[in-house]
Order: sequence, then structure tokens, then C-alpha cells
Amino acid sequence: MLHRPIYLDCHATTPVDPRVLEAMTPYFTEYFGNPGSNLHQYGWEAEAAVKRSRESLAQTINAEPEEIVFTSGATEANNLAIKGVAEAYFDRGRHIVTVQTEHSAVLDPCRYLENLGFEITYLPVQANGLVKLDSLKAALRDDTILVSVMAANNEIGVLQPLAAIGQLCHERQIPFHTDAAQALGKIPLDVQAMNLDLMSMTAHKVYGPKGIGALYVRRRQPRVQLAPQIHGGGQERGMRSGTLYPPQIVGFAKAVELAIAEMPTEAERLASLRERLWQQLQPLSQIYLNGHPQQRLPGNLNISIEGVDGQALLLGLRSIVALSSGAACSTPKAEPSHVLRALGRSEALAYASLRFGIGRFNTIADIERIAEVVISTVNALRKAQSTPSFKWP
Ligand SMILES: *Cc1c(COP(=O)(O)O)cnc(C)c1O
Repeated sequence: MLHRPIYLDCHATTPVDPRVLEAMTPYFTEYFGNPGSNLHQYGWEAEAAVKRSRESLAQTINAEPEEIVFTSGATEANNLAIKGVAEAYFDRGRHIVTVQTEHSAVLDPCRYLENLGFEITYLPVQANGLVKLDSLKAALRDDTILVSVMAANNEIGVLQPLAAIGQLCHERQIPFHTDAAQALGKIPLDVQAMNLDLMSMTAHKVYGPKGIGALYVRRRQPRVQLAPQIHGGGQERGMRSGTLYPPQIVGFAKAVELAIAEMPTEAERLASLRERLWQQLQPLSQIYLNGHPQQRLPGNLNISIEGVDGQALLLGLRSIVALSSGAACSTPKAEPSHVLRALGRSEALAYASLRFGIGRFNTIADIERIAEVVISTVNALRKAQSTPSFKWP
């Protein structure tokens, strides 16, 4: 292909870092054994690689190796956490607290449980996207068996106050789960300091391969109980059966190691690119930042633009830059983003939004080019829409 748009959709996925691919490669061909084969060298080699990766991953989040359960990604980890706790704590209560702006991989398991008779509280957020601790505290009941609040939002990048929420939950002895798919490798995560009982992770948002993730499950006191959701050969201490996938696991650990090692400089670089983009877009006027200006992922910028049609805007940009609207899908009948609506944005502004996900391989030149094309596209659309013949009756 001669020309491909600039990739600026790093909340959707990221490319595999060449250093990650290099670490993975031998485990497809040479060291291809099944980590569960404990009678011969092929199995031992694969098992040793899984063990090293598990230890490394655990260490980066201040957990123990046996607290890591490998899954196919964050969706599966969220399902295991939410449905697993619901089943294990069934006798203690049937009330779960989560937040309106969660990813569908949290909201959908919750809705499923609602159909089974569980009661779910979907907490609203403030205009800046953050949960109010007071309303969370007020929502906790004697029959609350789980609180699930994401670490970093996949649309607006806001970082929820995990440590404070964890403390509230621990005081009440309620298990606390976080979906950290967007946060892993981007901000420091410490399951002890944050009082986390369950944490969902995925590799492909942090320059690792798709199809691999993990759930951290607290085994130290107070230990969290969990019912497995996939039954079979008893891998992962019975928590998640199925043959482990050494190349993906090695790549996952390598990706997280790199991200953590480079975090201090990379976070600063991304934040300055983000700031540059926001500043360069200012001549447009009537553009609004979605989400808290500081308490957000360094590479995230999400804006709503007055006076343009959201779909026309994406169509106008897509040959130059690959990004998303705040809404997951941009067909005319799609619902506007539930996250932006929860912030109190009008339907029109929720449609007319852009989510920039700046990542490891973006440069200043990318940012300059993107600012230029967004400005010219928005100006052209605004001009067309203010022409009387284009007005709706
Ligand atoms: C991407 C994402 C998921 C889903 O992760 P997969 O590994 O693709 O299943 C879940 N939650 C959040 C917040 C995400 O950004």
C-alpha cells in the first residue's frame, strides 16, 4: 500500500513492539512445548518461560506470581472477576456497584447478572469524568459483594482514584475490582497500595500481542473468592482451564517490562505531544476537552467540536489519520458515546467528538499534520453547514 493514514488510535490497540516480537519468536518454533507437559524437556522449557513471565508481571504490580491468572485478554478477565465473584459470594449478597462510564466488557457482564436477579448500581460521574467518593460510599450496602471501577477510561483517559476507593471497600470488606486495560504500563499500578482484590490486564494496549491478558486475584488475606468460568484441565490453579500460550505470555511480560522501564520519559513525551495538539487546535474555537484536564492518561485527548456533523468529520479525516469518535461506531443510527453522555454532553456534541490516542511511535510531525487536517476539515464542514441551502427545515 502506498499511503496509509497516521495511526492515532492507541486506545483501540497498539502495534507489537519489535523487541516484544523478538522475545516471542523462539516460543513458536524452537521452544514449542506445552507448559503442562511435566515429563520432558520440551514441557520444562515452556514452563520455565511461563514462570519467568508470571514472576515479572507480578512484580511490576506488586503482586505474588500465584496471584496472576492468564486469560485471553481484559474482556475475559473482567468476566472472570465479575461473574466469578457473583457466583462465589451469592450467599452473602446480590448487589454490585460499578460506574456508568465503564467499558462494555464490565457493563455487559453486569447486565447479564442483572437478568439473573442481581442488583447493580451504575454510579454517575462528575462533569470531569471522575467518580465522587461520597456517592460511592453512599452506594455501599451490607449486601454489596463487589465494587468495579476502571483505572483509566478508554475514551476520555480519566484516571479514577483507585487507592481511595480501595480503602473504602476494604473498610467494608467488599472485594474491589478494577479494569486496568488502559492503565497497565501507562501509570504506576500497585495492588497493595491501592487495596485491589482483582485487576484486569491486557497486552495489546501496551505494545504486546493480542489475545493475551491476565487477572490479578488476591490470595493474601483478606483473600478473594472466585468461581472459575472456564472448566477443563485445571490450569491456572483451576481458575482458568486451557493450554497456556507461551509466545503470547512471554510477549505480554516483555511488553509490560519495557513500558514500565520507559514510563517516566515516555509519559512526559506523550503528555507534551498531547498538549501540543490541544494548543494547535485552539484556533478552531468552540472545541471542548472531554474529561479531567490533568488526571488522565498522558497520550489521551478527547474533544467535542461545536457545529459539525460527527460522521462527516470522521469521513473527512480518515484518509489522513486513523482515529475514533468517542462513540464506538459512527453509523448514523449508532448511539452516541455513553461515556460522553455521562459527562453531561449534549447528543450533538457527543457525536461530534474525536478521540486521539497518541502512542510510542507517534512523532511531533504526526501531531502537526493532524492538527492541520483537523482544522481544515472542521472549517470546511462548518462553512458548508452554515450555508442556508444545507440547513434542515
Ligand atoms: C480494550 C479494553 C478492554 C478489552 O480488552 P481485550 O483484551 O481486547 O479483551 C476492556 N476494558 C478496557 C478499558 C479496554 O480499553
